Amino acid sequence: MSNMKPKIKKSEDEWRKILTPEEFHVLREKGTERPFTGKYVNYKQEGTFVCAGCGNELFSSNAKFDSGTGWPSFWAPISKDSIKIEPDNSLGIRRSEILCSRCGGHLGHVFEDGPKPTGRRFCINSAALHFEEKQSV
Ligand code: FE
Repeated sequence: MSNMKPKIKKSEDEWRKILTPEEFHVLREKGTERPFTGKYVNYKQEGTFVCAGCGNELFSSNAKFDSGTGWPSFWAPISKDSIKIEPDNSLGIRRSEILCSRCGGHLGHVFEDGPKPTGRRFCINSAALHFEEKQSV
């Protein structure tokens, strides 16, 4: 599935129109926000984090944990189909990049030093996310 084509395709100009400069830098240019600067680092509301580019549901607040890294961190995505993971050897480091499966936007990287139950740490840029509050029943 790693060569799965994004379901949403836009030109660079189209993305620039709908994203903030910060969102564009992270999602479309694979940028990384400085640690402890993003709006969701210490965010504790219950709900769903969606892709800032396309609204795809990515992470539940139930899987969020405090990693101490300065970036919002999750131990699992909402579903394995909501993201895709690709090898990233930029900066001379072997890492695994996390992309939105719907628009192909860059979200962050996944590491194998997370907490139970998965042992994984999905390290995500706040600028790649929007938050949708849990609807009261
Ligand atoms: Fe997306």
